[in-house]
Amino acid sequence: MVAAAAERNLSAIAITDHDVLSGIDEARAAAPRSLEIVPGIEMTAAWEGPRAVHILGYFLDVTNPGLLAALKRAQELMAAHVDLVLEAIRRVGGRLERDNLDRYRHRYAGGAALVLGMLEGGVLRGAPPGTGMRLLRMAAAEPRAYSVREAVELIHGAGGVASLAHPSRLRRGQPLLDADALAAFVGAGVDAIEAWQWIPGGWGSRHYLEVAQALEVLVSGGSDDHGKRTADGHMRLGAQAVPNEVLEALRRRSAESRPLRAS
Ligand SMILES: [Zn+2]
Repeated sequence: MVAAAAERNLSAIAITDHDVLSGIDEARAAAPRSLEIVPGIEMTAAWEGPRAVHILGYFLDVTNPGLLAALKRAQELMAAHVDLVLEAIRRVGGRLERDNLDRYRHRYAGGAALVLGMLEGGVLRGAPPGTGMRLLRMAAAEPRAYSVREAVELIHGAGGVASLAHPSRLRRGQPLLDADALAAFVGAGVDAIEAWQWIPGGWGSRHYLEVAQALEVLVSGGSDDHGKRTADGHMRLGAQAVPNEVLEALRRRSAESRPLRAS
């Protein structure tokens, strides 16, 4: 990712892996001087029952003990979830092992790796009638280690700036949410919304810039590249241009809040 970003002459990228910080040192080690690595995260937080909302954190102190402990707990919960689902598969005579999930996972296995493993490993085809759907639902019901408010507090505690990720994907079939619909997130402490989000065709950014202005919060943005290729075979990386002033405003917010939070 870092090499590709340098090739595209990007001036900065944020590394925001899901619920894990271990990629940041790797990215920093691989980056040329011309490419800034913004240390970040994307936290999978609980919102209104079983739903998940993604909260981005930028300019984190990646050695912050509170944040590291919370992420470790999240990974342990996820590992226990994976074990539970694998055991349920075994009980109905299916075969899927942790090792089989390695090809689907990035830094650790979760619900998505389980679902892909079940689909491609023939577990569902071989499962007794009526059990396949139950196993899929069970795999998808990932544990949530923190609420949105807790995720925001963890990010702030590590000196970071919190942003609501890809608001256009928050409600299925309702890409353009208004300020009222997002006000609760501001109430939970987010500093920004991801207005410059990656959407094919690029629509929606203007709408969310206006929403951010109405809510008096900052904006963030990026290509949300998860490593998959677009339909025409290109990487998403660099496909969503973000004005440099967006980066600088986030940097200022993180610098301003740091001494306050330390006291
Ligand atoms: Zn996300």
